Order: sequence, then structure tokens, then C-alpha cells
Amino acid sequence: MEKFVYSFDEGSKEMKNLLGGKGANLAEMTKIGLPVPFGFTVTTAACTRYYDEGKQIGEDIIADIYSKLADLEVRSGKKFGSVENPLLVSVRSGAVFSMPGMMDTILNLGLNDDTVVGLATLTDNPRFAYDSYRRFIQMFGDVVLEVHKAKFDAIFEAKKHEKGVAYDVELKTEDLKEIIAAYKQLVKAEMGKDFPQDPKDQLMESIKAVFRSWNNDRAILYRKLNGIPSNLGTAVNVQSMVFGNMGDTSGTGVAFTRSPVNGEKKIFGEFLVNAQGEDVVAGIRTPQPIEEMAIAFPEVYKEFIRIAELLEKHYTDMQDMEFTVERNKLFMLQTRNGKRTAGAAVKLAVDMEKEGLIDKMTAVTRLEPAQIDQLLHPKFDEAELKKAVVLTKGLPASPGAASGKIYFTAADAVAAEAQGEKAILVRKETSPEDLAGMVVAEGILTARGGMTSHAAVVARGMGKCCVSGCSEISVNEDEKIMLVAGKSFTEGDFISLDGTAGVVYEGLIDTVPPALSGDFETIMVWADEIRTLKIRTNADNPHDAQQAVEFGAEGIGLCRTEHMFFEEERISNVRRMIVADTEEERREALALLLPYQKEDFKGIFEAMGARPVTIRLLDPPLHEFLPHTEEEIKELAETINIPYEKLSRRVSELHEFNPMLGHRGCRLAITYPEIAEMQAEAIIMAAIELKREKNMDVVPEIMIPLVGLAKELSFVKKTVLDTIQRIFDREKTTVTYMVGTMIEIPRACVVADDIAKDAEFFSFGTNDLTQMTFGFSRDDTGNIIREYRDLLIFEEDPFQTLDQVGVGQLMKMAVEKGRSTRPNIKLGICGEHGGDPRTIEFCHNIGLNYVSCSPFRVPIARLAAAQAVAKAAKK
Ligand code: PEP
Ligand code: MG
Repeated sequence: MEKFVYSFDEGSKEMKNLLGGKGANLAEMTKIGLPVPFGFTVTTAACTRYYDEGKQIGEDIIADIYSKLADLEVRSGKKFGSVENPLLVSVRSGAVFSMPGMMDTILNLGLNDDTVVGLATLTDNPRFAYDSYRRFIQMFGDVVLEVHKAKFDAIFEAKKHEKGVAYDVELKTEDLKEIIAAYKQLVKAEMGKDFPQDPKDQLMESIKAVFRSWNNDRAILYRKLNGIPSNLGTAVNVQSMVFGNMGDTSGTGVAFTRSPVNGEKKIFGEFLVNAQGEDVVAGIRTPQPIEEMAIAFPEVYKEFIRIAELLEKHYTDMQDMEFTVERNKLFMLQTRNGKRTAGAAVKLAVDMEKEGLIDKMTAVTRLEPAQIDQLLHPKFDEAELKKAVVLTKGLPASPGAASGKIYFTAADAVAAEAQGEKAILVRKETSPEDLAGMVVAEGILTARGGMTSHAAVVARGMGKCCVSGCSEISVNEDEKIMLVAGKSFTEGDFISLDGTAGVVYEGLIDTVPPALSGDFETIMVWADEIRTLKIRTNADNPHDAQQAVEFGAEGIGLCRTEHMFFEEERISNVRRMIVADTEEERREALALLLPYQKEDFKGIFEAMGARPVTIRLLDPPLHEFLPHTEEEIKELAETINIPYEKLSRRVSELHEFNPMLGHRGCRLAITYPEIAEMQAEAIIMAAIELKREKNMDVVPEIMIPLVGLAKELSFVKKTVLDTIQRIFDREKTTVTYMVGTMIEIPRACVVADDIAKDAEFFSFGTNDLTQMTFGFSRDDTGNIIREYRDLLIFEEDPFQTLDQVGVGQLMKMAVEKGRSTRPNIKLGICGEHGGDPRTIEFCHNIGLNYVSCSPFRVPIARLAAAQAVAKAAKK
């Protein structure tokens, strides 16, 4: 029979999934002989059953709880509900992943109008007994009965005021009794019945309340922000009470074995004399620094330091501990691996490796990949941030902090920057034409678009702060006005963006530069030694490529050639090519583009040195390069000297209802082979010229996008190979190159064995693959995805973190099939997911050779790839 309740001496730290973090660690501390008040844990599985059975605790579980309670009575020599010798317990939540302060706790349970009298007599301390009872009614009232906490606080404050005292400890027994009477009256008025007196009812109702608190708003939000699955449930710990509020020889505290702020090796914490647990956190009285405990409780302090050191060695990690001192005796109530800033995480990991506490493989797991962002981007000054006004929230599209003046067009942002202004580019959404504005902007804010929208992808590529998809903002770019939070903002008004959290603030907020330590470098070197995945970058210009190499990129996994088409001097030739009526005209325009493309590729190859570079042939539908409004069409007609009517007709001919599924990718190269010819020539000539001029051996990887049929690939490949052969003949030389394909259409995964016959490499385009597997448009579904996440239909945005059970299975199939016909095929990923740590772990496990991500995510990917090895080794 499944066991749903475990005594503390039946568990261990390995049983976190069942007992929750707190329960498992209480059991572990019991096991290694530390002073832990005895108790038992109701498992997370019981919580899951509670929800499955319509928020009821099953009879069998209730029976188990009572049996463990009886056991606790025997062990403590006290009795639940007894007046002579009452057993009191705490009831505390404890999930698998710690969610500090998100769920509920009830202390002093078991008190009622009778047992409180018994407790007073037994301890000869009536003040303590009534203080405990008032605390219990308040917590139980708030958490279980859901009477608003503020109503209890009001009664308590009124009494303090009436008595002319500043602190709770100054209230006398009689005052506390009056407070208790008032609390009970409040409960009766709110609930229509008396405060429950039966301790067993109190216990069952409290356990249910803790289960319920798994789904309170703040717990749901916390899980969402931290990627914790919503179906894990919480365990409940029932533990006999020890009392920190028994007078001046008692107290309670919280401490970390080392600093969670900067990692310094020094005990870090606070304690309060004559207080119970929640007082420290609630800030009712100002706690004292932990070191002062050495004066107040010298013996206890010595013992505490001994235990802290022992726990850190035992867990081989920095511990966050809660303890209580009852009449000069120390009790441990909790220990867990402490949360820490990125800076502290780095120092702790390196220090502990040097101390011999952990090995390098473990050290690289001690820094959250997402925390690396904190280390690389400027941050807002914490104190300033607290004072700032939040306007709205959007998607945390690209991390960092930015403050500046609002500009609504790329041109305005460019002009402002030239004047020395700091610009925030605010757009409904961005397009490649906004690039110049994005380059000069401090940050980018868009009303529409998801995590793979243009703004998000490009901003991440630049390492630029971006908040996208702020649906509460209305942007009128023509009138240069933005409406949000009932306020209107015009050009030149100040706003600030937190791209790490996706928050938009009013006004200017000061930023501080990142502080990079040598320890960070050390961790990254260790990560490189451990990982087996190669890390490439998505870059389409020498500057980004260079930046990525500095961050440790080992190649380019995706160079999107279309991004080069927008540059000032070439866009008109691109447009000339698109509007051409005949192949001949098209070839003329392409010939004008060829030298530019070749120079681009030379620049990128040079920046990458001997590292591999994958260049993708033109992908987006042609109309994206054309003007749309009448005015713009007129202007262009004049520039490229063709009749307005002709251009206008061509623009409408190219119009597509669903361009994402239209004339793009390899379909362009099939219908206009001359485009692929020009690009192949530019790539190969760049390699040949570098060989001649600099003696460089570049091995270009030519990538054909959006292939769904093996025949599409063989068709385009033939065009590319024929072109290359012509060049080799003409130039009387050769270079090594590869031809491969993107795998980004579900059908391509299914027929990957066939496709691999012609592909020397596969690169998973998981942006399109996700879009087409779900049938969710990349650009239009930001709001739907947000709602799906609220409703828990999606745990994650599938455009950010790979949907492993759906899209991931298609990838797995493609890997297996691809290798079946070409065993040494090179496999990588270049969709946005390539920089996501969980996706990277998946890619490691299905045997890809590399992941490719934007330059600023390269360090994250290096670390995540090492962690994937560490995790696999653990299993
Ligand atoms: C993809 O689809 O995942 C991809 C990398 O290509 P793009 O984002 O340019 O469509
Ligand atoms: Mg794609």
C-alpha cells in the first residue's frame, strides 16, 4: 500500500520528491543526529490525491496522520488536546522546489481555551501561553478560515496603541487575553461560528489549507516565473513546537552559512530574542545580526556554528537555516541550499571547489544559466528601482536594463542618438527596416510580437534590452503617442525597461555596470572542459560574430543572409531584383548585389578565423523587402526609375495572405534559381579570395531553408553545386564546402532519412518547426500563449523552451532517421531555443553536435551544455 505519511526518522534528503525539500531535510537532520523537534511529513503524493479527489483528504490518509500523531505523542511524552500536558505542533508547507514565503504556515496548533490554561500552568509562564494562543488564532484565522489578516492586525495595533507600547513583547498577559477575546469575536462575526476548539479538527483543516496554498495566486506566479511545474504539489510538515517566545532565554533566527549576496565565507543572518519564526521575516521588530548571538547566548551560538559548518559539509553547499532557541536549548527547524545572487553563486562554486568540498563537475551546476544574464548586462540600481513607478509588463524578450527618451521611428531614434540622447525605440512591432533605430537605441519596447518576434530576436542578437508584446500599451507611431496605465507619453518622455523581468517603468532609473570577476572566467573554463556539445552563434555581420567569439562561440550556426539586404546601399538593388519582369533583369540586379554579399561573407569568415560558418540562403518572402504605402511606392519608383504603376502592380502581385507559409525558403531558390546562384557564388568566392589573400582555409557550410521534400533539397543543391563547379572551373581552384539543410517543417522530420542522402548537415529551425507543429503563428499568438499559460494549458512558452514531448520527438525522429542514411551527419539547432538551458540539455541527450544561439547567450549555452553532462552523469 502506498505510504502517504512519514515520520522524520523514516526519510532522508534523497526523498525530496515525496517529502518536499523541507520534509526531506528535516528527516536528514534527524538522521544525522541534529536537534530537530520530532514530527512527520504528509507527502506531495497526498497533495496530488487531495486535488484529484475534489479537495478531500482520503480516509486512509487521515488514519495514517492520526497514527503518526499518536506516535508523536508517545515520543514527546505530551498529548494532543490534553490540558495537563498539551502537545502543540507547527504545520508548514514544503514543496519539492523551495518557494520561499509563497505558501502557508501555522504555528502553535493544538491550543484552545482549555489547553492554553494548561500550558500557562505547566510552563509557569502565562504570558507566553497567551502570546502563543493569540498568534495561533491569528494565523489559523488568516490561513485556514481566510479572515483577512489586516483585521487581526488592526485589533493588535489598537491594543498596542491603547496600552501606549511600541512592541508586541511589551504587552502583558491581560492585554493578550483581551486580544484573544477580540480575535475570537472577529472570527465569529466573519464565519458565523466559533473558533474551532477541537485540536484534531484544527489539524485537518490546517493540512487542507496548506494543500490549498499550493494554488494561491502568489505561488502560481512564483512557479511561472521560475519554471516550476504546477502538478508537483506540496508536502505538509507537522512538527512538535519549540518556543522562541518563552522569554529572554529564548529566541529564533535565520542564517546562511556564507553570504548569499556576495558569497563571502562568513556566517550571515539575524536573530530575535523572545520571538517566534514569523517575527523575523515579518519585520515586526528589527532583528539583531547573528554575531550578537554570541553575546546573548554564547554556548548556544557555539553549538549553532558547529551545526552550520557540519550542515554545509554534509550538503556540500551553502545552507539557509532556521532555528529556535527554547530556554537556552538550540533546535534546528530547517535547512536548505540557500538562494543566492549570480555573483555569490560564482564565488561560492569556485571557493568550494578550491576547498575540496565539491568537484568541477558539481561546481558548474551551482550557477543557474539564467543568472549569467545578471552578470553580463547592466542592471538597475536596486534602491532606485524600489522607488520607480511600474507602467506595465510584457515579455522579457532580451535581458538588461535601459533608460531613455521615447522615440517612435527608427529615423527619430537615429537622429536623437546623433544629438547625444539615449533613445528607447517604441514601436507596435519592429521590422528589418527598423534595424538602424534598434542599433542606436538603449532599449526596445513593442506592443506586439512574441519571444521570437523580430524585435526579440534582433535585440537578443545585439545583447540589447527589449520588452516585447506589451499588449496594454497602445502605440500610435504617426501621432507619436503611447498610451499606457491611463497616461499618455509623447516623443522625448522618459521611460525605463527591465528586459530581464519584462517590466516597463515611468521615468529615468540609474543603471550600474556588471561586475565580472575572475571567478566567472574560471567557471566558464571548467564548463568548456566538461561539455561535449559545441556552441555556435547566430550572427549575420562581423561585429556580432566578433562579439560571439569573445563570449566563446566556436562557429556560426546560422547567418541569415536577408539581414544584409536591408543595408542602405543595397536595398534598392534588392528591390530592383524583386520587381524585375524577366530573368535577365533579375540577373542584372543580382550581379549588382554579388560584390556586397561576397564582402559580407569575407568579413564574417575573417571574424570567425578557422571556425565553421553556416550561411543560409535567402529565406523570407520577397514582399518583405518592398514598400507598402502609396507614398513609399512612389518614392521607390522614382529612385529605381520604373513606372509607379508597374511597381504598384508588382507589390500587389507579391501580396500573400499567409506569407509565413508562402513563397519563402527553398521555394524562392526553386522558382528563382538565380538568387541561389548569386548567393552560392558570393559564399564560394569569399572563401577563394581569403585563401588567396590570407591563406585562410574557410569551409563554408551552405544551408538550404524550409525543406519539406527530399526533392526540394536535391533541386536547390544541384543549382548550388553546378554554380560552385562553374566557379572552380573559372577560378582554376577549389575550396572545401558543405551543403546541408534546415529541418524546420514537420514533414522533413518524418522523411529525414531521405533528406539526409543529400544533406551533409541538419540544423533544426525550431522557430518554424514549433510554429508548424503547433499551427501557432510565431508572430500573432503572443496573447494566446500568455492566456494558455495563465490557464496552465502551457507550462512554458513553446517558442522559448522547446516542447520536448511534441516538437522534441519530431527532432529525435529526424536525428535517428538522418543518421540511418548518413551516420556521420552533422546535427545542430539554430532556432531561438538553442540558447535555452532546458532545450540545450535535451539537445545534448538526443545527440546533437552543437547548439547555436545569439551572441549574448553563448556563455549561458556553454554553462548549460556542461550542466547537461553533469546531469546525465548523475542519472
Ligand atoms: C527557425 O525557424 O528556427 C530559424 C532559425 O529560422 P528563422 O527564425 O529565420 O525562420
Ligand atoms: Mg525558419
